[in-house]
Order: sequence, then C-alpha cells, then structure tokens
Amino acid sequence: MAIESLIPATSRSNEKEQRNTYMATVAPVMSLEQEKNPWQAQATRFDFAAKKLNLDPGIWKILSYPTREIIVHIPVQMDDGSIEVFTGYRVQHSISRGPAKGGIRYAPDVSLDEVRALASWMTWKCAVVNIPFGGAKGGIICDPKKMSQGELERMTRRYTASLIEFIGPEKDVPAPDMNTNEQTMAWIMDTYSMHMGQTCNAVVTGKPVSLGGSKGRREATGRGVSVMCDEALKYLGMTIEGCRVIVQGFGNVGSNAAAILYQKGYTIIGITEWDGALYNEQGIDVPGLIEHRKLAGTINGFAKAESVDKDELITRRCEILVPAATENVITSENADRLRCRILCEGANGPTTSVADEILETKNIFVMPDILANAGGVTASYFEWVQDRMGYFWTEAEVNQRLDAIMTEAFRDVVGYAETHKVNNRIAAYMLAIDRVAYTTKQRGMYA
Ligand code: GLU
Repeated sequence: MAIESLIPATSRSNEKEQRNTYMATVAPVMSLEQEKNPWQAQATRFDFAAKKLNLDPGIWKILSYPTREIIVHIPVQMDDGSIEVFTGYRVQHSISRGPAKGGIRYAPDVSLDEVRALASWMTWKCAVVNIPFGGAKGGIICDPKKMSQGELERMTRRYTASLIEFIGPEKDVPAPDMNTNEQTMAWIMDTYSMHMGQTCNAVVTGKPVSLGGSKGRREATGRGVSVMCDEALKYLGMTIEGCRVIVQGFGNVGSNAAAILYQKGYTIIGITEWDGALYNEQGIDVPGLIEHRKLAGTINGFAKAESVDKDELITRRCEILVPAATENVITSENADRLRCRILCEGANGPTTSVADEILETKNIFVMPDILANAGGVTASYFEWVQDRMGYFWTEAEVNQRLDAIMTEAFRDVVGYAETHKVNNRIAAYMLAIDRVAYTTKQRGMYA
C-alpha cells in the first residue's frame, strides 16, 4: 500500500529496520514499504540535495509540495453496456519555469503518491536539461490490457473533459507515458480542441506527426538514453566495442534504446519484458527481435536467444544496465547483486534511495533518470515549439538539437558532481533545484 502523505521525508515515521548511511542526514531509518514509496524516494533525494545546496528554508518548503493535485472520478460506459468509474489524477508540481509538463500513465497500480513523485521528477528533469517547463504528471487507475480501444477512448476523453480548465498550451501540456501513446494524445488533443472550438495542437505532445507531432519524438527517450551511454563511456575512458548492455523493459523507451544502441555498435546481450527475458552472450539481433515481437505479440519464442529468468538477468555481468520499465526495480533487495559498470535509467524512479547507497559503494556510475530519460521531454519541448510556430523541422534537425541538449546536460551534471563531490544523482537534483529555486526567488511571492 502506498503511503499517500505529503509529509516531507525528514518527518516521516521512523518505523524500523533499514539503515541508510548515505542519506543518514535526511532519512536515517526506512522500512521496505517506505523505501518503495516513490514520493519517499523523491523526497529523500530532494532533502539531501537541498541540504547540500544550503537551500533557503522558505524555497525548500515551497518545492516540497506540489502546486496543485487534481483527483477525478470518471464514469465510462463499457462495451457490454455497464458503467465503470475510474479514478484519475493530475498533479502539477511546479510552474515556476514555465507551463507544467509531463505524461499520463494508465496502470492498475497508479497511486497519488506515485503521480506526485513523477510530477516532481518532471520539474527536476526539465530543469536539468534547461527547458522552459515546470513539472506535472497524470495517471488513471485502470488495466488497459483488458480494455477495448473504444473503452480507452471514452475514458481518455472524459478524463480530458474533467481537466479541461487545468490543461492548455500555456498551462499544462500532457504527453505519453506508460501504456499511453500517440493515439491517446490525439484523443486528448481532439477533446480539448472541441471544447475550445478550434484546433489546439500544442495542448499535448507525443501526437501523431500528421496532427502536429514532431519527427523523432517517438524514439527520443531511447535516443537520449543512447547519448548518455556514449557520454558515460567517453567520460570513463571505455569504448563501444565490447560494451555489453542489458535492457530491462521493451516498451517505447527500452525497445528504442536497444535499437539505437544496437545501431551504434553496442552489444545487447540481454532484454527483459514483463512476460519473459532473453539472453545471448554474442549479442541479440534487436531489429530481428522487434520484427518477431510485431508478429508474435511477445519477445518470447525468439529463436536466436536463450530464454532466462528476468530478475536474475539484470544481475548478470555487463558494462551497461538500462532499466527502462517502471519504479523500484533496483532496491535494497537486489542492488548488491548488480554487476554492471554503468546504470543508465531509462525509466522514472527505477532505483530506490536506499539502493543508491549500495550502488555508490559498488562504484557503479549512475546516469540518473532525471538526466538519462530526459530525451523524451526535450523532444516534447521541440514539438510544442514547432506547434506554436506552425513550422516543422526535419528529423535530422530534431536529433541534432536533442543530442546537443543531452550532451550539455550530461556535462552540467558530471561537472556539478565533481565540484560538489556528490554522486551524479544528487548532482542532478542539486543542479535542478538550484535552477528552479532561482526562478522561484526571482518571481517572488504573490500574496
Ligand atoms: N512521460 C515522459 C517522461 O516521463 C515524457 C514527458 C513529456 O514529454 O512531457 O519524461
């Protein structure tokens, strides 16, 4: 059960067990349940980084809370004529640097604490790559795998209608996340536009290209992950040749990251998905696997790799591990067993704060989520810019701009880490908090 509370990590109950010396100053004791609470994971790093920054206590307090949290209950007529009521959230964490920005996810285990955490991660992520957005996230508790297209469309449209006064190109701009896609964004854009009486394509990003989407957006998160891998290798004096990669998750982020890394010459030795895992020491033919999945509907049964246990696979020796699925994949329960040199977080929140400390003692070079997966929102920013000027770039232009922003963000983060003698994750938080605190101070208080 998620702990749906807004109390900052510092004042959370000190139930028992988990000693976390790295975070000792802000979260000395944590139960496993707390460790796996995403809001707790966010708050622990935030408090630690804020302390390092010597952050003004007032700004600290402001940034510890989301600006706005909306809960909606959405009645939907199901295909069999019955009515279901779904619960949805939209949390806007900060609008200090610009309109709120962030995806919408559909999953059975969505919770307010998760959406809160994801919204604040969007604030930090946009600040790390220095794009003019705040952070938001949305989610609906539902099981999209069990719903028809018609049911998904009706639920999406009603959710959009419930949020109509809170979203907009200058207010809050949704995008795809887990189990949502270009089609979902097209429905949101259409519903919003019908309410406004005009086509407003800048209200969402990650749309189909034919409706004002950006070329390169679909692949952008995976592409950004690959740029981070390139940069990390250069930084550590390693080479692509002989660099073995394991990718956990084969959705939009994982499959594109694997495909682009494969193209660049990395050896993808392992791939896991929710229903199975594949391993081939010589390297998996990623384009072949993508074709196989299109036909078979699963990665299982792919002839040119051995089928293995997915939890065990991520602990196998490799140079780079890319968790690209969901939260809490690397925890105090398995961090000790990881055998990668670099952890490049394609997912949001795959590592708990307790695991951070273990990774640090193992000298694993971490590319934290708010840096490593920022390629998606960066291309979303490009989409929003293109929609607002009505002039569209080529894919090469998008990719070139994306690579430039991601590379600069990498340098900013490792530079911060070196200067302040902290790990990359805390460096990314410090950089982001510093930027958001600056605009918050500059704007001043409206009272
Ligand atoms: N859902 C993606 C993320 O977590 C993209 C958000 C966006 O493009 O606004 O970064």
